[in-house]
Amino acid sequence: MRQYRIAAIPADGIGPEVIAAGLQALEALERRDGSFRLDVTTFDWGSDRYRRTGSMMPEDGPEQLRAFDAIFFGAVGAPDVPDHITLWGLRLPICQGFDQYANVRPTRILPGIRSPLAGVGPGDLDWVIVRENSEGEYSGHGGRAHRGMPEEVGTEVAIFTRTGVTRIMRYAFRLAQSRPRKLLTVVTKSNAQRFGMVMWDEIAAEVAREFPDVTWDKMLVDAMTVRMVKNPQSLDTIVATNLQADILSDLAGALAGSLGVAPTANIDPERRYPSMFEPIHGSAFDITGKGIANPVATFWTAAQMLDHLGETAAAARLMRAVEKVCADGILTPDVGGTATTRDVTDAVCEAIRMEN
Ligand code: ATP
Ligand code: MG
Repeated sequence: MRQYRIAAIPADGIGPEVIAAGLQALEALERRDGSFRLDVTTFDWGSDRYRRTGSMMPEDGPEQLRAFDAIFFGAVGAPDVPDHITLWGLRLPICQGFDQYANVRPTRILPGIRSPLAGVGPGDLDWVIVRENSEGEYSGHGGRAHRGMPEEVGTEVAIFTRTGVTRIMRYAFRLAQSRPRKLLTVVTKSNAQRFGMVMWDEIAAEVAREFPDVTWDKMLVDAMTVRMVKNPQSLDTIVATNLQADILSDLAGALAGSLGVAPTANIDPERRYPSMFEPIHGSAFDITGKGIANPVATFWTAAQMLDHLGETAAAARLMRAVEKVCADGILTPDVGGTATTRDVTDAVCEAIRMEN
């Protein structure tokens, strides 16, 4: 029996609702498969803990997670706690501490879910966006001078390193190579930003020589948004900087129907540390407790987690079950249905049990 230790951190808002749904689907897969076991430990970290104790997680939080094979994460954020506390107190220390430098965001239109793009359906849009997750625009360098004065200056410095760009580029080329179309689009803004972005272009060309079987092209990020909307079929794997990929993947999520179906994986490709799997959406307090959160993003990221652990058959089974349930029209309100989180989850578990 193959065994994996999973750290579940449901955290805030709808996080606990979707993580409970995800764990239920994972249990159904374990029973169905019979050859692997997930040993799940749940941590009560998040905004509730912050209100009780003044910190989102214990000081040695990352240390406690180190021995796990993967982290299954819900959402952070609460209306009464500032974002810098929720993000910097929990999610970012895990991402950075475990050097999860590749943020991988698959996007595809699931059967039964409508894209806002007219005439675009399943098969027309099948992308994986690779986001650089450790440096660039979010490296945290910059400052403010003459605060509040008319001459005030604020700087926000993007830092790109040869090591950082090369490793994300290699990851993206390797991923593109593993997909049927072997197609990669490298996004930059090197017409207007003349240093880091030009280096990004140069490193892309260098790494490309290691992957002669991958077809690749370069796009400026502004033109890229147009291409995503006008010609989604022309794209497959996409790599972009921390900020640019952040924006492009929200657009991608919207084009695929809803934030409620968009998953993400924060990966340490060298496997020195546990990787972290989460839905892209946040805590969504407007629907918390109503039982209508869409669990599909969390199912999908659970499939990414199984893939990462090497349980590829179970991952594929989970995605087939999700696609069947969506195609059957068992959908939550955000994607135009009337089903509850529980309806969708029960249907996915049933599909896992019943599949031949
Ligand atoms: P954060 O500040 O952490 O980003 P948020 O409260 O802004 O969180 P998001 O998760 O970013 O909320 O989502 C924006 C809106 O999209 C939510 O308010 C909600 O209505 C909808 N939404 C997001 N995720 C889901 C989901 N899983 N199911 C249904 N609706 C969702
Ligand atoms: Mg938000």
